[in-house]
Amino acid sequence: MWKKKPYCIKCKKDTLSINFDLLCPFCGSIQNIDPIQGPEKSKIKISNIWSFSPFLPSLEKVYTLSEGNTPILLINNISSLKGLKLKLEFRNPTGSFRDRASSLIASYLSSSSISKLVCSSSGSLGISLSAYSALAGLELTNIVPSNLELSKIEQMKVYGSKVVEHGSTTEEAIEKGRELQKGGVFFASSDNILTVEGQKTIGLEIAHLSETIENIIIPKGSGSLFYSIYRGFEDALASGWIEKIPSFYAVSLKQEDLDFYAESLKIPTPQTLSQKIGDILLKTKGKEIEIEGEKMIDQALLLAKKEGLFIEPASASVVVAANQLLENEGINVDSTVALLSGSGLNALNIFASKLRGIKKAVWGLSEKSTTKFEILDLISRKKANHGYAIWKALGKRKSLQSIYQHLNELEEKNLISSKIKGKNKKYYSITRKGIDAYSKMRELIDFL
Ligand SMILES: [Zn+2]
Repeated sequence: MWKKKPYCIKCKKDTLSINFDLLCPFCGSIQNIDPIQGPEKSKIKISNIWSFSPFLPSLEKVYTLSEGNTPILLINNISSLKGLKLKLEFRNPTGSFRDRASSLIASYLSSSSISKLVCSSSGSLGISLSAYSALAGLELTNIVPSNLELSKIEQMKVYGSKVVEHGSTTEEAIEKGRELQKGGVFFASSDNILTVEGQKTIGLEIAHLSETIENIIIPKGSGSLFYSIYRGFEDALASGWIEKIPSFYAVSLKQEDLDFYAESLKIPTPQTLSQKIGDILLKTKGKEIEIEGEKMIDQALLLAKKEGLFIEPASASVVVAANQLLENEGINVDSTVALLSGSGLNALNIFASKLRGIKKAVWGLSEKSTTKFEILDLISRKKANHGYAIWKALGKRKSLQSIYQHLNELEEKNLISSKIKGKNKKYYSITRKGIDAYSKMRELIDFL
């Protein structure tokens, strides 16, 4: 099946009989696939990822939803970035580049008569694999962290896959998924050889399009997307499509912003993969760029408002980075590709909370009820107990006056009670009725 068989760079063992993890099950090093020399460029006409089949494992049957062959658009209206090339990976069937991986995984498993798989992810991969499992008739169980957005979980269920919540981080979900890969059950995650080989078609597409791309800007995430695109360029180089691999830039978020803004950037990068990324940055004369979460959301909204492109915050991170590179390093915008990895529809909560000026949006609840809930939450958890402190804890996004208004209404409904201390300052505590109302609301809300 394999054009070049993966092997561990360190212990050189063939590990495919054990599993398809990107990291060697014996020693933890990265699995390697030597660059594949395919046909010359003119022999390939791209319609989907399977147009690159000379670079992929040979399979009896392929399952495709017409993934890949995503367009490249130039920035038009944001004058500082005019001409920047955007690779629209969110135009894939389920809204992310993961569809490239899922098409290969579903096809590979069907050709190997494996019918059950487990996937641990923070969303996009699970949603994507759910769609392709439906197409290929595979039985998929998604293991997801219990705080994953409801909109993502529901998408997985819509396609008929099973969802099991486990732990509170993607890392814990990955560990659980790994435990379940026994007796003919395949385990899929972002750090999987097939995932990387499917996603490398992004690199092949960009190299196929132009020999003159000098810079590629990619969200770092767990590192596997970054590594995948490099793999594609390695194959393109081995096939004589390009003379040189462009500079690779990895975009990450400042640590303190990770929780709030970009779940998908929170997947831990295994140490050996970190080393590999470091090597690629060095080899291609690129670098890692750290940006602020708030800037990323603003950039995403700007792209929607100015260019008509609605993308997830992690995708917008690459455009923020492009700005920085332009200012600080004077890169050539015309020969730079920024990768827009996923759709804004998969991260609606983050945008809704920004637009509504609240910490977290709750679907089906008005902005006012959400603020009341947040106030009850703060008082019941003893995080804040007077108007000013509550206003501050809610990020000062509302007027102080409106917070007092909410407090009065909550008190009128007997959900909180107050005591006056000091200079007419009211201190609030939650009532029995308030606790009941609060815990019922909590049950309803997906992110708690
Ligand atoms: Zn090894």
